[in-house]
Amino acid sequence: MARFELAPLPYDYNALAPIVSAETLQYHHDKHHQAYVDKLNELLPGSGFEDAPLEDIIKKATGALFNQAGQHWNHDFYWKSMKPHAKHAPEGTLKSAIEKKWKTIEEFKAAFEKAAVGTFGSGWCWLVKDGQGDLQIVSTSNAENPMRQNLKPLFTCDVWEHAYYIDYRNARAKYVQKFWDVLNWEFVAANFGK
Ligand code: MN
Repeated sequence: MARFELAPLPYDYNALAPIVSAETLQYHHDKHHQAYVDKLNELLPGSGFEDAPLEDIIKKATGALFNQAGQHWNHDFYWKSMKPHAKHAPEGTLKSAIEKKWKTIEEFKAAFEKAAVGTFGSGWCWLVKDGQGDLQIVSTSNAENPMRQNLKPLFTCDVWEHAYYIDYRNARAKYVQKFWDVLNWEFVAANFGK
């Protein structure tokens, strides 16, 4: 039996439409994410990480094994970062922490969009909590994950072209602007509170 398995999406394929279409989710989850899981499983034998938890592989592995493990974790976290009928604003201590850093939610969103759109090539844009409990926006390339810098991910936006090309073609900025409509602020708050 394969060591790692692809979990089903936490919602129906058409649940995020029209922000993220069923066709995008079918390709992105069933083809792209599945391929990362399959390659991760193929690379494990003889790697020394056969029984390691996924987060340990991400923190310690290099090269192809890191890339596949990182992409598996990042996608799982991305699916959870979205939900249908999401609340459109953070609340409570999370809202306060964002306003402490960026003054307003709108300024935070603008800063996040700038970082996401400015990520060169393929990568991810993240809201993270640092060791002092302060928030930061982090852009990473390829499969890179902020946990490797001891930063705690709160949510992520996939800015690989395969995340948006079917729905928005090359218009990454439009995809990132629409992403707020499906961002799962309850998931973000739960991660912030941990
Ligand atoms: Mn992706």
